[in-house]
Order: sequence, then C-alpha cells, then structure tokens
Amino acid sequence: MYDGDMPSTDDPLHRDQPEDPPILSANVTAPSHPLVLPALMDMAEGDDADTAAAALHLAGALLVQADQRYETRKLRDQHAPEVARLLTAANRWRQATADRNDYCHLLETVLNLEGDIHWAEDLTWGIVSEEYELDCPDPDGCTAVWVIVGERGFFSTSEDYALSDDAETLPLHPAAPRTLDGLGRRLYELALADGHEDVAHALTYAFGEATCPQCERRFSVVGQVVARSS
Ligand SMILES: [Zn+2]
Repeated sequence: MYDGDMPSTDDPLHRDQPEDPPILSANVTAPSHPLVLPALMDMAEGDDADTAAAALHLAGALLVQADQRYETRKLRDQHAPEVARLLTAANRWRQATADRNDYCHLLETVLNLEGDIHWAEDLTWGIVSEEYELDCPDPDGCTAVWVIVGERGFFSTSEDYALSDDAETLPLHPAAPRTLDGLGRRLYELALADGHEDVAHALTYAFGEATCPQCERRFSVVGQVVARSS
C-alpha cells in the first residue's frame, strides 16, 4: 500500500538519509504519511479478525520503527487519537483471540502501540517460535545460548543443539508467578485472564533465568533479549 507514496524531502520525518538501505527507508518513512495510520485504524476497527490483526501488527511495528529511527515520539504524538483507537482495538481483539500465536502477536501489538519498550517483537518471537537465540552475558563474549521453551522442553543449550542429538542441555529456572513484577507480571496475568495458560507458562520462563552451557553463568532470559535487541 506504500507504493507511490514517495516522501517529500522538506519534512525531517520524511527525509531519506543517503546511507539507509532502500527497504529500511521505505519502512520507516511510510508511516508518517498522513493517511497510513487512519487507514490501518479503519481496518483494525472492522469485523474481519485476520485483517484487523494484520493492520494492528503493522501499525505497532511502524510506530516502534519510527520511535527508534528518529528517537522521538513525534509520530505517536501527531497521531495520538488514531494510536489510542488502535490500542483499544488491539485490546478488544486480544480478548477475543483463541489461537495461541495470534494471541502472542496481539500482545506484542499492544506493547508496540503503547510504545514503552522497543523489544516486544523479540520477546514475542521466542514465545511463538518456542526458542530464543541469545548471547551469554559474559563480558568477554562467551557463546551463543539457545533457550528452548515449548514442546521440546524447557532448557538452555549450545548453539549447535539443532544439529546434534547429544548436545548438553541445562534446565531453565522459571520465575515463580508470585515473584513476577512489572511487565512480566502484567503479561502473565493478561495471558491467564485471556485464557492462554500455556502462554502464561512460557512467560515464566522468558522472565526467569537460564544457564550458559559453556561457563555455567546463570542469567535473566529477558535481560539478554533486551541486550540483543539494543
Ligand atoms: Zn557463558
């Protein structure tokens, strides 16, 4: 839908930086076109769940990209009424969605529309794909750590787990729900209230700890999700 909406060059929000790869420029400049967010809002407020979810996901991702690209919330502020209505729609669809992965993407969308964190996609990606690829937090750069949360079990392992049947695995240390606070508690309670117990369960691992298979350092999973996305 963005084809042909070439940005004008006299608005700093629209200005292409010469060093940007073309795809990135198109992604981050398109949402500031005055018609994009209202169009997505209309789709989000329609009756079709798949169309609404796709429109909401795109709107949230575009806003986060704009936040990061310009290091301001100017686009959100300019479109505050649309963002508020998108958020209302996202919360309504969230409560109505039975599919596990659709639900996870709607949680991500709510966080992206709120705009308080920029790593909701990375957090959700691990819950949907049932694994996180992280770095050991050792300052000397120890190794990559795979954190598996799902049908294959709940453990950390070395990078080549997928290629080897006998890779060492170490149990994860999920957060006890009563010890969760902040974002972890909020998401856990939302998932439970919305009837997604398995998502809530997976979140206790995302907000818990893993052990590096090489140096045996224990670390916060979400802490390394944040580190990897920054
Ligand atoms: Zn390590």
